[in-house]
Amino acid sequence: MWPDHIRCAVALTFDLDAESVWLADDPANANRPAVLSHGRYGPRVAVPLILDLLERHAVSTTFFVPGQVAETHGETIRALLDAGHELAVHGYTHTPPAEMASEEDEERHLLRAKAALEHFGVSAVGYRAPAWDVSPHTIHLLNRHGFTYSSNFMDDVRPYHHPDTDIVELPVHWVLDDAPHFWFDRDTWEKKIATPSEVAEIWQAEFEGIYELGGLFVLTLHPQMIGRPHRLHMLEEFVQTVAAYPGVWFATCREIAAHVRSVAS
Ligand SMILES: [Zn+2]
Repeated sequence: MWPDHIRCAVALTFDLDAESVWLADDPANANRPAVLSHGRYGPRVAVPLILDLLERHAVSTTFFVPGQVAETHGETIRALLDAGHELAVHGYTHTPPAEMASEEDEERHLLRAKAALEHFGVSAVGYRAPAWDVSPHTIHLLNRHGFTYSSNFMDDVRPYHHPDTDIVELPVHWVLDDAPHFWFDRDTWEKKIATPSEVAEIWQAEFEGIYELGGLFVLTLHPQMIGRPHRLHMLEEFVQTVAAYPGVWFATCREIAAHVRSVAS
């Protein structure tokens, strides 16, 4: 499946939600600046630290960006592009396709999101739905509008083709997402915030398993969560550990999908 001498592909992906999660959750949050600041931490503090970390380890990766975020955080978008990372679509707002009224509604959102990135000269080929919650129409809409990959499904540890389309799936999973481990629910106060060592233990063990299977390891990270200083230390140690394995290929999702398509054709 992989290029010569490669045993496992690794994509350290980031979903640059900024304020969009809280705006989609409740439009009234537009008038709650401290609530929105949860997300603003992403572009304001976390992204520059993440860019430094990626540069130290010469890793290029993919940032999934809602169109609305691209329109309000242009400087951040330009910094990501200047650093050589891939930009891909993460909805226009943070409303998942599964919650949209119709296929037409979903298509409008998708094209508006793509156009927001085209404003920066980016012809996006990748798509990750907000909350990975696609509709029954999503894959065919991606196929119709020039996308080459989706990163939303949890039914494999290797890339695969969606039937009857040109769309490659780059599978994800909740255990490899920072949000379920670090998210704090301020409404209930019920959920414990994980320590970095607990999360590193899970990620390391899952990496070893996927490496043995010769699969694809996709981390789904959120600047507002992984970007806290103690978690960035953990991420950096994790990158160093993974990089020490022979035959590991750190790549953008676009590169991985292009390789999978080239092998299949
Ligand atoms: Zn998101």
